[in-house]
Amino acid sequence: MKTQVQTEVDTAAETDVNPFMVYHFGKIKNDGNASMRNLLGGKGANLAEMSSIGIPVPPGFTIPTTMCTYYNEKGQVLPNELKDEVNEAIKLMEEQTGTEFGSESNPLLVSVRSGARVSMPGMMDTVLNLGLTDIAVQGLATKTNNERMAYDSYRRFIVMYADVVKGFNGEDFEHIIDAAKAKAGVEQDTELNIEQLKEICLELKELYAKLSGEDFPQEPREQLYSAINAVFDSWNTERAMLYRKIQNIPSDWGTAVNVQAMAFGNKGVTSATGVAFTRNPSTGEKTYFGEYLINAQGEDVVAGIRTPLPISAESAKAKGLEKQSMEEVMPETFAELTAVFETLEQHYTDMQDVEFTVEEEKLYILQTRNGKRSGFAQVKIAVDMVEEGLVDEKTALGRVEPGSIEQMLSPIFKAEDKANAKDQLIGRGLNAGPGAASGVVALTAKKAEWYKEQGFPCVLVRTDTSPSDFGGMMAAEGVLTVRGGATSHAAVVARQFGKPCVCGLTGLLVNEENKTITFGNQVIKEGDNISIDGCTGEVFFCKIETSPSEISQAFIEKCIDPKDSEVCGHYEKIMTWADKFRTLKIRTNADTARDLNVALSLGAEGVGLTRVEHMFSDEQRLLLLRQVMLAKDEEIKTLALNHIEHFLKDDFSALFQTLDGRPATVRLLDPPMHEFMPHSDGDTAKTAKAIKVTEAELKSSLGDMAEHNPMLGFRGCRLGILKPELTRVQVRAILTAALELNNALIPCKPEIMVPIIMHENELIHQRNLIDKVAEELFAELNIKVAYSVGTMIELPRAALQADEIAKHADFFSFGTNDLTQTTLGISRDDANHFLPTYKNGVSDPLTGTGNFEVYPDDPFQTLDQSGVGKLVQVGVKGGRSTSENLKIGICGEHGGDPASIDFFHRTGLDYVSCSPYRVPVARLSAALSAIRN
Ligand code: ADP
Ligand code: MG
Ligand code: MG
Repeated sequence: MKTQVQTEVDTAAETDVNPFMVYHFGKIKNDGNASMRNLLGGKGANLAEMSSIGIPVPPGFTIPTTMCTYYNEKGQVLPNELKDEVNEAIKLMEEQTGTEFGSESNPLLVSVRSGARVSMPGMMDTVLNLGLTDIAVQGLATKTNNERMAYDSYRRFIVMYADVVKGFNGEDFEHIIDAAKAKAGVEQDTELNIEQLKEICLELKELYAKLSGEDFPQEPREQLYSAINAVFDSWNTERAMLYRKIQNIPSDWGTAVNVQAMAFGNKGVTSATGVAFTRNPSTGEKTYFGEYLINAQGEDVVAGIRTPLPISAESAKAKGLEKQSMEEVMPETFAELTAVFETLEQHYTDMQDVEFTVEEEKLYILQTRNGKRSGFAQVKIAVDMVEEGLVDEKTALGRVEPGSIEQMLSPIFKAEDKANAKDQLIGRGLNAGPGAASGVVALTAKKAEWYKEQGFPCVLVRTDTSPSDFGGMMAAEGVLTVRGGATSHAAVVARQFGKPCVCGLTGLLVNEENKTITFGNQVIKEGDNISIDGCTGEVFFCKIETSPSEISQAFIEKCIDPKDSEVCGHYEKIMTWADKFRTLKIRTNADTARDLNVALSLGAEGVGLTRVEHMFSDEQRLLLLRQVMLAKDEEIKTLALNHIEHFLKDDFSALFQTLDGRPATVRLLDPPMHEFMPHSDGDTAKTAKAIKVTEAELKSSLGDMAEHNPMLGFRGCRLGILKPELTRVQVRAILTAALELNNALIPCKPEIMVPIIMHENELIHQRNLIDKVAEELFAELNIKVAYSVGTMIELPRAALQADEIAKHADFFSFGTNDLTQTTLGISRDDANHFLPTYKNGVSDPLTGTGNFEVYPDDPFQTLDQSGVGKLVQVGVKGGRSTSENLKIGICGEHGGDPASIDFFHRTGLDYVSCSPYRVPVARLSAALSAIRN
């Protein structure tokens, strides 16, 4: 399902009218605010906003996203004037901070940070401590009286610069640091002493010189310009492009660049850095949730280099880390931090994800954004914030993605199944992304993608994940990491995409070389089964079957009381609000009372499509249909038809009874005939016997009937016109069933739907036939029942001629599956040969690179709005031009797709009909469309 990215008015197109090349933020000069995120990126806009409300933010400036667009359009160059503006802006920062770029006594150091309109965690690059040179590093040491910190910052800077700006392999540089640690016999970076750090800096610079053929740049401004270019370049890295594709983010949005004075979290034990959420992003609970590291810089927390400590005393205690939380270690700064949380939540009226750094007890906030959260947390926070009076119901709904409801409905591990597997329970990590996942172990992203392609569910198990693992995380059912906390890359991405995730399972050893994972004395191999429970953090070295969600158990199976389940309570609230705001009705596609019951318990308001052909799936019934189609003997045919009428009536009765007065659309038989005919020899023999012909005769009739392209063949109303007896029995069955219900005082007014109409005469024919059969039946039984007759619009000609067709129809239902096939000329069953490639991109004949995207989406999943959608619009307009009150719905797969539902809402349809389990998603999507439009 597509997530829709929320944005404000598009300003990216206004490249030429942009008056400023830099926007300042800080106490002295503050040009931006939160509403300018399209221009300044989310990070830049919020840095300015926070400055303006008195939050302590180190000063700096933002180069807007429009500059990135310029940069890419002009072939990776920037306007000359930008340098002047940047120099001016640096001067202002120097004045504000009382420092000087490159100074040997008091150097200004900055970070150069990416930041797009919507956050793309870890996808783009950032350089910290820029401005350090061989001279400036001494200046920093003198000024801070902290030589260790100066060289610690320098070695970090060299590695980041080499990696981000020069594109060298960061790992080669990390090796130098690892080797130095090994030599010194220490495990943590923080244990390295000044001399060792100096030595490391020298070695890093040597490697840099060797790789680049020139010395490490000693001119801060040169460093800065190169870093700015590099951040713009990071918009187009492979992983950023993949992320944009999955998130539907246009590539012309671009990133902004933020240049900001450094705050130093690596100045010793009174300094720290951390990431925190104002509520728990996994469960939604209103508790301070975050992690910090003493004597460290920002990247250390996210990258999982050291496992960070919890900020709150309570969670530290829960993890056996007493007295190590920020709350206990730096109580005053912690109090300041939580006060900032409150201010930010009240100001933004949403849960915030905050980056902070403490420099010798002084708190700085480096970033805030609306926090990404799991589907469960989206729902809980939405409900809680309404109850807290922070937001109204509409706003709350707007914070719940339709996919979250799907997440709430997805399977879980039952307590008893976990109890049975308790011998294979190896431990408990952090419950970083809720949900249950079971599958084979994949140790690399590539392997996870491979398993997915082969059809094996897998769990990606990594020491820690980095943005390059993104594709593998998407392919896996769930993610397990050894290192990293609940704000690590793996956790953030997993929550955002609804992947079950367990992080920080300390003690687990991942050996990529031997392809094993070990915990204590238990060893399993890549390809063996593993199960993770992202709600509890439990990890099992075995397969555990998943069970229906609490919502299913409460509302469908009715085996638990919804009152006992918090999840169910939240779900019901969200659904009640959704129903209050939506104007589209939600029906379901159901062929059996069982399916229908599921849909009704999930809130369906009627049936939008019952496919009569699905009532022929059992063998006995199939044989009857074959008799009607193939028998030459009229008596056999008549007997078969009577039989068919009989069992259809029973099926319809059951369906109508379950509907209990709700509307029901029954579509007349629309079988792909070849699927219903015998194929095997045994089957042919049986059929021949049933219709009393020889096998040879049968084979010859089957040969006559065979079609080259059954999808465009003898189906739909064509069948009803050439074999009116089939329409006749269906209509009799539908109406007698309805009569029975009416007799039992249950209202029932069936809607009889004629499939595959291209010309109004087809509908006129079937309508007359239906009316005639009804009249005969009513005379026969001496009682009447109300019914209506309508048609599917699923061929382009029908949409184009909707005005003529509507004169004979009581309702329309767009069959967008067939309409997509016939409009695009693509058969759904054959599309797999080329559609995925169309979507992923093919080689561009002009550049020779593989970036040419032919077609962006799967049109069978999300409606092709510009093509098929146009036909829907034409059909709606045409239909209502001759029949003002024509009831119009849709019953294709698209009825459960949020983006398509939004389109149907805007097009003025009365209802969408979707498969039973998608009903809640459709209810919420419809409400969101109503609120948006
Ligand atoms: P990302 O978008 O990947 O989080 P950021 O630009 O936010 O990248 O920076 C990465 C890390 O560096 C974050 O932890 C951030 O807090 C830290 N950082 C960025 N700028 C500064 C600064 N001026 N002073 C201290 N830390 C910083
Ligand atoms: Mg950040
Ligand atoms: Mg169809």
